[in-house]
Amino acid sequence: MGDLMSIKIKDIIVHVIKSELDIPFAFSQGWVKKRSATLVEIKTDDGLTGWGEAFCQGLEPPQISAAVIESSLKELIINENPLDIERLWFKMYNQTRDFGRKGSIISGISAIDIALWDIAGKYYKKPIYQLLGGAFRNKIKPYATGFYRINGKDEAERLSDEALLHFENGFDHMKIKLGFGVKDDIKVMKSIQKALNNKNCTLMIDTNHAYGVTEALELGYVLEEFEFNLRWYEEPVVPENIEGYAYLRNKLKTPIAGGENEHTLYGFKDLFKFGCIDIAQPDIGSCGGITGAKHISILAQSFGIEVNPHVWGSAVAQSASIHFTASLPDTNHSLFTRQPILEYDQSDHPFRKELLKNPIKMNNGYVNVEASPGLGIEVNKEIIKKYKIN
Ligand code: MG
Repeated sequence: MGDLMSIKIKDIIVHVIKSELDIPFAFSQGWVKKRSATLVEIKTDDGLTGWGEAFCQGLEPPQISAAVIESSLKELIINENPLDIERLWFKMYNQTRDFGRKGSIISGISAIDIALWDIAGKYYKKPIYQLLGGAFRNKIKPYATGFYRINGKDEAERLSDEALLHFENGFDHMKIKLGFGVKDDIKVMKSIQKALNNKNCTLMIDTNHAYGVTEALELGYVLEEFEFNLRWYEEPVVPENIEGYAYLRNKLKTPIAGGENEHTLYGFKDLFKFGCIDIAQPDIGSCGGITGAKHISILAQSFGIEVNPHVWGSAVAQSASIHFTASLPDTNHSLFTRQPILEYDQSDHPFRKELLKNPIKMNNGYVNVEASPGLGIEVNKEIIKKYKIN
């Protein structure tokens, strides 16, 4: 272990990786033809390496947050002490405020922040959840995210087969992608409900803000009428529509979730203050990293709002999310409080399956929280080389 005061960030390397999909798929906002990731590798002068990731949305070019890191953030943290995580978070945030605050700038900050936590864990020889104050849970139930469209509409039958496949693979929680027209959505949901009949599954829905308030409400009412008992209704309207969120939350019994397209404690403050959501879904790779997620979770705790992170990145972001989710305090504490669940995307993604030498696996319906130092991951550099575009 080096001298605490002298350890320095020596190098920041950005890896942009991309993999074309064999079969493009749609969510309500468009067709996804490739999966990409912006990874960051930070090296210290005493030989430690930390990994981080900027979340790359389905339609987002990964080069944007790479440029943010290369041209703006790198110079702010080079030669700094990597253990000064909170100080460096605010340094990066304050120095980019006038052109940042949301979107890819915060994703760049997130990538660096995750890598700094990885370094800190390796330096102190502790898993990140330990540095965050300890694990409230040592295993997390994953839920299957999938149900993307390959034609666009009229896929109710294929999607109900997919639901059965997830169930056979050990999932009893699933999130259905909707937002392809209210009629089509309802057809899909009824078909899935029929297929999963008596299987005791919990469902969530996600329209990726496909609708305005009227249609979003119609969908919510119909699903309540047919007793889907959804655990949550995700991104019913666009993230800017604070009033719409609050209105829907008032009208519907179904818990409203959102936040994958919101950023930092400042952004989430409005969602909480105006009563928009029951469940906050910061993405570790775009909300401000582990530090940003921690800020948001404390704020959420003060409003009695559950935090259930959004995860759609590579195995690096998944690992960071597992540590963060392990460290989340219960909301509304009781003996049998509802526990956060781990988003576990089931689409084709080599950066989830191949990127780590020790890939994340499900065991008896749960993902275990591992106790190795830092993120506890070993990145396979060959995979980075194979998919690297710059
Ligand atoms: Mg979503």
